[in-house]
Amino acid sequence: MPRCYFDHNATTPLHPEVAAAMMPVLGAVGGAPGFGNPSSLHWAGREARRLVEDAREALATLIAADPAEILFTSGGTEADNLGILGAAASGRLKGRHLVAATFEHPAVLEPIRKLAAEGWDVTWIDPGADGVVRTETVEKALRADTGLVTVMAANNETGAIQPIAEMGALLRGRGIRFHCDGVQALGKFAEICPRAWQVDTMALSAHKINGPKGIGVLYVRKGTPLQGLALGGPQERETRGGTENVAGIVGFGKAAEVWARIGAEERIRLGALRDALAFALQARIPGLIVNSAEAPRVANTLNVTLPGCKADLMAMGLDMREIAVSAGSACASGSVKYSHVLLAMGRDKEAASSSLRFSLGFGNTEAEIIPCAEMVAQTAASLRGL
Ligand code: PLP
Repeated sequence: MPRCYFDHNATTPLHPEVAAAMMPVLGAVGGAPGFGNPSSLHWAGREARRLVEDAREALATLIAADPAEILFTSGGTEADNLGILGAAASGRLKGRHLVAATFEHPAVLEPIRKLAAEGWDVTWIDPGADGVVRTETVEKALRADTGLVTVMAANNETGAIQPIAEMGALLRGRGIRFHCDGVQALGKFAEICPRAWQVDTMALSAHKINGPKGIGVLYVRKGTPLQGLALGGPQERETRGGTENVAGIVGFGKAAEVWARIGAEERIRLGALRDALAFALQARIPGLIVNSAEAPRVANTLNVTLPGCKADLMAMGLDMREIAVSAGSACASGSVKYSHVLLAMGRDKEAASSSLRFSLGFGNTEAEIIPCAEMVAQTAASLRGL
């Protein structure tokens, strides 16, 4: 069986159109457009600037924003850091109380923990057993001095979609800053529109939608005060200093164009593949549980608990068969790490160390589904000593 890649929530390969758009910029030896510094006033700078602004426009179109609201960063992690730490540093939040969801990506958890260590008061909120944070849970956590709330649009482990628009409506009315990690939502939602959702800042990343690694966006709603963290240049509206990653930006812009074009069809295709995989696994593996099955989920993500099978051993066993999946837990220096997402959903440690994530993408085909399910079933049976 050929090697299979089911880890598109970790990263995706470059789309051929993205690679083709980036090559001239990467390979330009003093000639092709794009090698210049976008801040330079001469022709080479102007050409690079034009490419950057075209990409900004493509990103803005994909998320129904104004190009002036798109700020390029080095990836989703920096965008989350800037959205949270930059808000805190702006001195313009209503108060020093923060509300954050426990199942966030470390790109959000760590900046919040940093602020907590600096004396900000943090209320952590959990999703329900289905992996969805309720708007009422956010509402209950609010205080008169709440300055910022952060909840992700779709969870990276379970794919569960969160009621961001509902939360946005609640928070805007109270003048509370709303940051949203949209990294796993981009390309996977029919519509991702931070402005309509009344989100103030939203993090996005190119490499989850067949764009290059090392390039991201922070959507910053017009008029949102934000203190830059990388000082030393006037780039990106004086909020993110440093010469722009022109090739990366061009790649992100092209990936946005590609997903605007293929997204609707691709989501239907991936949803069908995902459901077929779930069905095939359930038919072969006794006791298998699909996590967040009852929640609205992004089409490409399937998270399953395999009771009695440690996730890291499953992932290693599958890797030996050249099937790439992700273990929600990882073994670090002999000790089992549990999926903080499943623990937040109220699952026990056994479940939180026995769950696998399959995340599908552009290259996956129907032909892979049954052979993959067979391999997973064989690996599970051997781990269970059957
Ligand atoms: N947020 C979420 C939900 C993610 O899944 C990831 C990456 O896995 C990130 C943030 C970080 O993005 P990047 O890898 O571009 O820094």
